[in-house]
Amino acid sequence: MILNKSSFNFFSRKFTAVFFYCRNLTAKFLNIIFSHFFTYTCPLCKQNTIHSTELLCEECISELDFIAAPYCKSCGGSNDTIFEFCSQCLKEEKQTWDKAFSIFNMKNLSRDLIIKYKYYGDIALVKPLTKYCFQKIRESGIEFDIITYVPLHWIKYVKRGYNQSLLVSNFLSKETSIPCKKLLKRTKFTKSQTKLSNVQRRKNLKTVFKTVNIPAIKNQRILLVDDVYTTGSTLRACAKTLRKSGAKEISILTLARR
Ligand SMILES: [Zn+2]
Ligand SMILES: [Zn+2]
Repeated sequence: MILNKSSFNFFSRKFTAVFFYCRNLTAKFLNIIFSHFFTYTCPLCKQNTIHSTELLCEECISELDFIAAPYCKSCGGSNDTIFEFCSQCLKEEKQTWDKAFSIFNMKNLSRDLIIKYKYYGDIALVKPLTKYCFQKIRESGIEFDIITYVPLHWIKYVKRGYNQSLLVSNFLSKETSIPCKKLLKRTKFTKSQTKLSNVQRRKNLKTVFKTVNIPAIKNQRILLVDDVYTTGSTLRACAKTLRKSGAKEISILTLARR
């Protein structure tokens, strides 16, 4: 059989069509296999199945309570006043940082998400939490040179087994390629601040934080990560300490505003 140019083109077209058909078929087949084997349970509700590329199920995502604009300039939470600050911040001491951002209202499923992550050792939740932090950073255009976190006293660290703010900071560091450094140290063990009055909190935290690695702080723009913003006393004490060591700009990022 002699192959002329037109019969060669005919075979070439046929071959290309068969090749693409097989390729699509293989992709579909692999997709079915992958979605069958590489699915797992939603880390938040522990009921719905999600694919390996998703971090939470759709049902959970729809129930999360995100902080919406307008934002309070002091805490990054929703602003319920006509002023720059929300009604809670108006009652508090002045902020010691430059910018503030927060992701969730500490309500409903968002509250469960934070509680499970912080107190119940559900550290798989760090991934969705970091994703929302990263989204917030991109949307707001915050710029910083170093990521740091509110430290735990070593007794609390040993008891809990992890520092929830450090985990988020490390994941954020991978996501943003900006280094995460330990810049603060807790020098005293303080009991939970939640039930204390503002004056007691301030008194308690006055000399609790100390900076470490001062050369890394000088003239740097720092992103300070914490889990929940309640009155801001801890963050105020941390930011004040960083400022004293020469930080140029401090932005705070909290997972939730109570
Ligand atoms: Zn879920
Ligand atoms: Zn506020």
